Amino acid sequence: MDQTPFEAAPAALTPMMAQYFEIKAVNPGYLLFYRMGDFYELFFEDAEIASAALGIVLTKRGKHLGEDIAMCGVPIHAANDYLNKLIRLGHRVAICEQMEDPAEAKKRGSKSVVRRDVVRLVTPGTLTEDDHLDARSANYLASLGMVRHGETDFALAWADISTGESFVADLAADRLADEMARIAPAELLLTETARAALAERHLLAPAWAAIAVTLPDEAGDSEAASARLRQSFPAGDFDPTSLSRASRAALGMLAAYVTESQKGRNVPLRPPVLDAADGVMAIDAATRASLEILLTQRGQARGSLRQSIDLTVTAPGARLLAARLAAPLREAPAINQRLDAVGHLVDDPLLRARLRQDLKAAPDLARALSRLALERGGPRDLAAIGKAVAAALELAGQLSRQADLPPVLARLTMILGAAPRALAAELGLALADDLPLLSRDGGFVRAGYDGLLDEERALGTKTRAVIAALQARLMDETELRSLKIRHNGVLGFFVEVPAGQGQKLLDEPHRQSFIHRQTLANAMRFTTTELAELQTRIARAQGAALDIEHAIFARLRAAVLAELAGLQGLADALAELDVNAALAEMSALRSYCRPRVDDSLAFAISGGRHPVVELTVKQEGLSFVANDADLSGSEESGGGALWLVTGPNMGGKSTFLRQNALIAILAQMGSYVPADAAHIGVVDRLFSRVGASDDIAHGRSTFMVEMVETAAILNRATSRSLVVLDEIGRGTATFDGLSIAWASVEALHEQTGCRALFATHFHELTSLAKTLARVANVTMKVREWEGEVVFLHEVGPGAADRSYGIQVARLAGLPEPVIARAKQVLDILEQRSAGTASSRQKASVLDDLPLFAHSAPAAPQGKDPVYEALDKMRPDELTPRQAIETLYQLKKIRDDARRS
Ligand code: ATP
Repeated sequence: MDQTPFEAAPAALTPMMAQYFEIKAVNPGYLLFYRMGDFYELFFEDAEIASAALGIVLTKRGKHLGEDIAMCGVPIHAANDYLNKLIRLGHRVAICEQMEDPAEAKKRGSKSVVRRDVVRLVTPGTLTEDDHLDARSANYLASLGMVRHGETDFALAWADISTGESFVADLAADRLADEMARIAPAELLLTETARAALAERHLLAPAWAAIAVTLPDEAGDSEAASARLRQSFPAGDFDPTSLSRASRAALGMLAAYVTESQKGRNVPLRPPVLDAADGVMAIDAATRASLEILLTQRGQARGSLRQSIDLTVTAPGARLLAARLAAPLREAPAINQRLDAVGHLVDDPLLRARLRQDLKAAPDLARALSRLALERGGPRDLAAIGKAVAAALELAGQLSRQADLPPVLARLTMILGAAPRALAAELGLALADDLPLLSRDGGFVRAGYDGLLDEERALGTKTRAVIAALQARLMDETELRSLKIRHNGVLGFFVEVPAGQGQKLLDEPHRQSFIHRQTLANAMRFTTTELAELQTRIARAQGAALDIEHAIFARLRAAVLAELAGLQGLADALAELDVNAALAEMSALRSYCRPRVDDSLAFAISGGRHPVVELTVKQEGLSFVANDADLSGSEESGGGALWLVTGPNMGGKSTFLRQNALIAILAQMGSYVPADAAHIGVVDRLFSRVGASDDIAHGRSTFMVEMVETAAILNRATSRSLVVLDEIGRGTATFDGLSIAWASVEALHEQTGCRALFATHFHELTSLAKTLARVANVTMKVREWEGEVVFLHEVGPGAADRSYGIQVARLAGLPEPVIARAKQVLDILEQRSAGTASSRQKASVLDDLPLFAHSAPAAPQGKDPVYEALDKMRPDELTPRQAIETLYQLKKIRDDARRS
């Protein structure tokens, strides 16, 4: 290891410190992992940040300008874990390695510093190792392009360098937030000017600021970008001049950042897919959150739609499923093609089972390829390519035996069948069964694959036998039974004897042949001329074997990369087949139906269920009540229907609303849906809002958020949209809220004409059905039984006249005095609004306020029959049977008291 860099007199910079500062200066914004021997050390502020983040000890080392230098370090062997933690916390790390052997540096003079350089910038959006990535989620780096020419044009480019996928889209400013919510990048690049422009228009969401990397304006220059793009995307693949200036700027900035982060390694980016926003269903950030598509509102995967429907058997399949779920299609023919593929596999359970079985054997081809291209891949990545190809050929075999394959499956069969068989065979022959993670230490080439390698290895094995023989001979000669020949990294091979016997070898006659190397507390170590010679022979054989293995690795890697584009296409096909088979499996297991999707304005669901709530309800041993919805309309009738859904709290309104929105998403992503039958005219935009959700972090009150979101719907929904509004207008005074809800229903009906579901506790709204032609009232049915309310979760025509809020509050455990008082107040308020309350009654509400005067006395009251019974009870004297009977008696006393 180097001597410590910072021990010189404070005023003078040691050469190593000068080197540190130089490297630090060209990597601003990065924590510098500065390699020193077996550690990465961090200094100054970096050390303080890292020690706090990682919970490791902060020490001091030398002085700079008279101040102690803070330092902390992570050992090389554990560096990956620490790195992972830092990246997850949003830090960016520059890895600085020693570029030469310290011995080399010494040759230049005892004071000279080991050459060091940054070999990689590790940032949240440029990860490639499995340790750092979630196997089942994409990891996108996004880049925002902005060009001003009178008007301002925006574009977004995004790429996952762990798989090579890249995309670009021109976007109007008001679509940026939607797209960002869909892509959910780990890191966002933007120029200083773009950042300022977004902030000025209130478009810079706080969530983006947390992942934003602000670059100087030159980075976003669209002209310089063209040259950069020609480099990053090899000629012929795509023509950068076909893109808009904003798209070029975004993509160029992204490509430059990726190349810089990988320090010039060849990043295997695939030609960008032009993401036409009008090809997919528009779903804004608030709708995604409220429908819990990829994550629940608490940010958990468990309980989200994605997690509930993900029956894929491979990680790439899971990633594709998530991507499809995030971007349902808008073109009926494309949706129906996907449905045809799923349908074929629903109808053939045997084929589906076989395909899913074979798919399980297919490793993550895209990520293995990316690592190999970035010179970061190991023998297991090579093996993954071979296994994926073998699985693809097997799958193609299964599929090609089928008659009448739908177009999607026929296309996949062709791609899978064209997998490079010879390459897989070669990899199979070359690679051993048990593979090390890294190629560095060899040991991954199968015996029998390479004659020369086998010879060198045999030599190594033979020499080991010679060593064993030598040990036996030395034992005899010295008559030391415990003499051993051992090996370690520092001394190589050596003779070891217990400390007490060492003197014998230092004395005549042995001192001629045994050369002393080391004395430990309980052992002494020696070498002999013969052992040293053997050591050289073994090292040479091992070195030669290693060289051969490395050459084989390089050759196999080159063979794989020669097929890069084809293999990337194969990776896509495997993922697509997995998604189709998984959706088919789900449909079969859960009795989903194929939706009829066309360009009408239909939305007719019969026997619809909520894909997530159905699972939870079933887990609790209950059954989910299926419900119909029909919002179908036509251009002639002025648009789709709007259903006003009323009913008690906990009656199932939200569940009903959301299940219909989720059915639309599932249908348009190309999945079967949880219903007996479904007819859906393609939805262009989906909006779902739940009233009263705070956004304190963004500095907006409950009501403000609700109104901003409602405004977005009223401004953006079209006659093709589906709108789901849950209790809008609850966050303000009753009459203000009611008026807003009223006007919103009118606007949706009169101006937008979209298909809509509107749940509300404002029962006054139900009278709108009389005046607005396409508004209908439905209600969640309940049954009252012995003063309690029983939810039937059944949607039927009609309007509820009450919300049963007090009954639900009782179920929730509100104290009995509060419930009783609430009932009293409700009675009077209802009579008052109906104009039937006497003036004495009105006064009594006010006289009795505040409410808590009534709820306070929760202490036992002598006259309460339950308390009286409890007073008489002697628990210690009861048999178990009597205890149960007493419990029933108590319940009966209480029920009788209530009835009276
Ligand atoms: P609130 O007005 O208080 O928000 P709500 O009417 O929106 O209530 P939900 O939240 O939709 O009620 O439903 C409450 C619970 O009822 C759900 O969590 C679920 O357990 C159950 N539930 C809802 N719908 C059904 C159904 N169709 N079948 C079975 N159980 C259901």
